[in-house]
Amino acid sequence: MTESKYTQSTEWPYPVNYGKENEDVADVLILGGGIAGCHAAITAAKRGAKVIVVDKGAVIRSGLGGTGVDHWHLACTNPCSKITPEEMVGLLKKFGDYFYLEFGNGITCYITCKESYDALLDCEKTGVKVRDVDDEFAGASFRDEKTKLMFAYDYENKYCIRVNGGANIKVALYNELKRLGAKIYDHVMATSLLTEGGKQGARVVGATGVNARTGEFYIFKAKSTLLSMGAPAGLWIFSTELAGATLFQEPNLTGEGTAMAWQAGAELTMLERSSAMIASGGFSYPMYGTGNAHNTWYACTIVDADGKEVPWVDRDGKILKTVSERYRPAPGQKTFVYGRMSPSYELWGPTIIPDLPERIMKGEFKLPLYADLPGMPEHERRAIWGLMVGNEGRTRIPIYDRYTKAGFDPDKDMLQANIMPPEQYGFGAWWGAYGPRQWRTGGFAAGGGLAFDWDLKTSLEGLYVAGMTTYAGGDHSVAACSGRYAARKAVKYAQTAQEPVIERKQVDKEKARVYAPVTQKDGVGWKELRAGLCRIMQDYCGEYKSEETLKTGLGWFNSIRESEAATAYARNPHELERTLECLTHITVGEIIMHASLARKASSLPLEFKRLDYPEMDPPEWNKFVTIRLENGDVKVGELPFNYWLLPPNAPKYEENYQKHCDL
Ligand SMILES: Cc1cc2nc3c(=O)[nH]c(=O)nc-3n(C[C@H](O)[C@H](O)[C@H](O)COP(=O)(O)OP(=O)(O)OC[C@H]3O[C@@H](n4cnc5c(N)ncnc54)[C@H](O)[C@@H]3O)c2cc1C
Repeated sequence: MTESKYTQSTEWPYPVNYGKENEDVADVLILGGGIAGCHAAITAAKRGAKVIVVDKGAVIRSGLGGTGVDHWHLACTNPCSKITPEEMVGLLKKFGDYFYLEFGNGITCYITCKESYDALLDCEKTGVKVRDVDDEFAGASFRDEKTKLMFAYDYENKYCIRVNGGANIKVALYNELKRLGAKIYDHVMATSLLTEGGKQGARVVGATGVNARTGEFYIFKAKSTLLSMGAPAGLWIFSTELAGATLFQEPNLTGEGTAMAWQAGAELTMLERSSAMIASGGFSYPMYGTGNAHNTWYACTIVDADGKEVPWVDRDGKILKTVSERYRPAPGQKTFVYGRMSPSYELWGPTIIPDLPERIMKGEFKLPLYADLPGMPEHERRAIWGLMVGNEGRTRIPIYDRYTKAGFDPDKDMLQANIMPPEQYGFGAWWGAYGPRQWRTGGFAAGGGLAFDWDLKTSLEGLYVAGMTTYAGGDHSVAACSGRYAARKAVKYAQTAQEPVIERKQVDKEKARVYAPVTQKDGVGWKELRAGLCRIMQDYCGEYKSEETLKTGLGWFNSIRESEAATAYARNPHELERTLECLTHITVGEIIMHASLARKASSLPLEFKRLDYPEMDPPEWNKFVTIRLENGDVKVGELPFNYWLLPPNAPKYEENYQKHCDL
């Protein structure tokens, strides 16, 4: 393999060996060592499988959970929970037929309700501090004195656990992986899936990768493969000039999992779903770095510029007189999801008054607003500024440590608050960061991905999926639980699977694709290319779509792939990785456009607006639209709502779970 002239003239701290091949063999190959991948690897290794974990970053801190977790959802089987898995899945169904927001779909949601607490106990065994072992919160109303577990949001029903030492959860998982002998390939970007005979739609027998430091090539052969590479992000906005947190997600999550599954012929769904993530956009404050009243900052008192308290109300608009009422369901209500996030009144929770903007306009409250930490009861104050902000993803160092070192004292200081318009009280107000919105960063709320069944198996033999790579997304506990579960299925499959055989021609083709940028001398750099690709998404696949704009967008991607992208150059392995991500960007953009073309109707829950099909959710389109590649052609299909419980006389949640779970 020729080295580019740029490589030779650029100082690079690692030996560069473009094209050099490394081979390894596993029973279970895990692509993406984030939360789902780590839990999967630990489970598979404990079951005696030979496990390989491949990660683009360093597993010890990579992925969305790499910087922490403050709340652990759906722990319905913990000894204090007053909600059973069956009740919970029924309640979350109120979010609608497409998705359960942070909670996966019917399958991953139920698995999580059943196993979330066990997964947390697994973490505790690896050394994560889960409980209030030092009695720092003794007597707090969110603490159970017997178990020393601490709860968030609904103190009555106690199913969401505050993780005392969540900031370092990934370090503990990493150490456990090492202890169990899983083989970890850090800084190796997985680039493609290998299939039997090199055919699209055939059994998956391994994957290829490239090292972001040495440029070396990897061929992994495996009896079963598990995709846990997060969801694509950064498709609509890219700028290295914008300061702060321009992405909600981790920048490494560019969607190779989705792209490689597509190329291999796997069935994808819900890729047409778009949403505007408030938390992203270049002018945002760092997440959770301004005060607010929701999510991590729940349920902080907000005051106006004169110190006047903004009232809280329950779902019925009844004024809540005490702080403690903010953590309880309304009379007659089972439980709630804070704010007005749920489309269903049944799950609406306490919130600051929804008509705050009107009242500000009338002069009742004066801007700016502040999060009044000193005004909160001491335990609650220390829970927000400590347990939560201290352990939440991306807040420990930039917010908690930095503000503390700079002298911020929650006992005395208020933090200026950014509060969202009322219709976003559910979503927006959590983040406390209001800037230009990036269309569809994915969030936890699922922007589509791989379709799967009760075995967390994809449509391809030998390929399993977990975490946010599934079409149904999910949060930390969903990732952990789906990782453990999918690994059990992948191990079982590997135990009887035939020896995988790699098709050399497929490897050669991928090598040629991967190394093309290092053979280029002139052309575009990855930053320019990426910014241009974002323009295609903004202009032709934005909030409002039509057949014409989508087809024009596909035409542009095709043209860029053949021209600018074909000339893109990389001067070192890092730039090679970033350039390959641009190629992923094109593929994922095309997938989204194909999915958007396939749904010939607008949809409110999917936040999907077709100008040429403006009717919202006509009954014939109430279904999941699926797409896949077959011999290079896009095939459109469908899955009925609740496909996990069909046909009507099929087993229900618990029976399905018991039939498949392989505990
Ligand atoms: C700021 C923030 C705060 C959050 N707080 C909470 C919380 O308090 N509670 C909660 O429940 N959830 C929280 N979440 C969500 C939670 O972190 C995610 O839902 C969870 O981490 C998803 O797990 P995953 O395994 O699917 O993805 P990730 O954990 O993101 O793992 C994906 C992995 O894939 C790797 N990867 C990507 N591409 C490649 C490639 N080409 N080759 C090899 N590897 C690749 C990445 O490096 C990464 O390690 C938060 C998320 C963020 C961003």
